Amino acid sequence: MQCTIDQVSGFFQTTLDVSVLRLDKIHPVISGNKWFKLRYYLEDAKAKGKKSILTFGGAWSNHIIATATAGKIKGFNTVGIIRGEEPAIFSPTLLNARAQGMQLVFIPRNEYSEKNIPAEYRTDDHYLIHEGGYGDLGAAGAATILDGLTENYTHYCCAAGTGTTAAGIANAAKEKQVIAISVLKNNRNLKEMIKALLASGVAAPELLHDYHFGGYSKYQPALLEFMNELYKHMQIPTDFVYTGKLFYAVRDLIQKNFFPSGSRILLIHSGGLQGNLSLRKGTLMF
Ligand SMILES: *Cc1c(COP(=O)(O)O)cnc(C)c1O
Repeated sequence: MQCTIDQVSGFFQTTLDVSVLRLDKIHPVISGNKWFKLRYYLEDAKAKGKKSILTFGGAWSNHIIATATAGKIKGFNTVGIIRGEEPAIFSPTLLNARAQGMQLVFIPRNEYSEKNIPAEYRTDDHYLIHEGGYGDLGAAGAATILDGLTENYTHYCCAAGTGTTAAGIANAAKEKQVIAISVLKNNRNLKEMIKALLASGVAAPELLHDYHFGGYSKYQPALLEFMNELYKHMQIPTDFVYTGKLFYAVRDLIQKNFFPSGSRILLIHSGGLQGNLSLRKGTLMF
């Protein structure tokens, strides 16, 4: 897949070469890394003759809407097991997923886990994809994010939730350095989760845990101001859950001389913009 690359060294006020791989632009709904993470699961499901895809997520999940949309395009029924009671007012994510034909099944938060799939869905008819697309096939798909890049980079930087994307990129990047910005607070499992997906001999991504802004889907004014500034100068929209934190982290790392001179840095813009709809209107300028 051919993707746009934006040069952003000026915005970061650095002589290092800093570019952005705009996965946010590949599809209006299945934006970013989710499409890559899903592709081999969907192929596997087809090969196994499954008619239905079952997966998990929250009410604003990029993975849920991506699975609903990609599943529909590929001719699957989809079931989304959603964390929390059925809300009186559906989020745009859930409305959109339902409009794509996804069947939504709500599980109270304290019971929500992949072990608690309702019995009627715990059958062989459904092809199960883990929450966030975590797993070897997800990492194999994420590895293809780097396909078709013609330039050489010394550092790949990405946001990490389950770490599937970071692992896939590390597997594809070979000896290059991968820096993963954890968007969860104190997610010390992440290291092991990523390690389980790395091919043998591949160096583990460097995990940074200081840019979560309070935790998963938490934010502070400084993050939103930064996202607006980035948009104003570069017309690059980011989301407050993942990519805003990634770009913020990279700016901070550059200011702290984290990257050696001569570095060529590629930020992976992993999409997720629909999540911004959970913010009050007007919070962001885009
Ligand atoms: C899901 C998501 C991530 C995290 O990907 P993992 O493979 O789970 O680490 C990063 N960015 C965006 C925009 C996402 O939606």
